[in-house]
Amino acid sequence: MNTYTPAQALQPDEFLNSYLLRRILMAEPTSPKNLSGIVAASRSWYLLPKVPPHLGYLFAHLTYSEKLKIVIDTTNIWTMEFTNNPFYLPRACAAVFEGAQLTTSFARATGWTTPIHYCPGCFMAQLEQFGFVWFKRDWLISSRCEKHVRRQINCYQ
Ligand SMILES: [Zn+2]
Repeated sequence: MNTYTPAQALQPDEFLNSYLLRRILMAEPTSPKNLSGIVAASRSWYLLPKVPPHLGYLFAHLTYSEKLKIVIDTTNIWTMEFTNNPFYLPRACAAVFEGAQLTTSFARATGWTTPIHYCPGCFMAQLEQFGFVWFKRDWLISSRCEKHVRRQINCYQ
């Protein structure tokens, strides 16, 4: 039987890609190819990440509504049009967790990427308090950290 640690749960301010990346790395740390649906070759985040089908087992403990909730809770300015739309939301969820193919205009947007930002001050604080780090949704859109106001958010590229 599996037991799930706090590190395996989505954090309240976490970006979807970060959650998927952490879960995949915890399970299979030696296969960076597994991250090809999360991080693009240009070292950017995919705006709609995808779990490789053979790793679907990592999320098998989640119910369908829990998966939907994760996609909704990690909404950002780019994925809002999917998550606010009852027609697109189930499709986005199936694409993220089950490798479902998306059609036409919807699929176009999912190939877009955005730079990977992080705040070293937040990483240190997370590490000290929780023992692991995650990427915050806020870092997608701002260049300064709310907590560490003097700190420019770094870009991993
Ligand atoms: Zn910070």
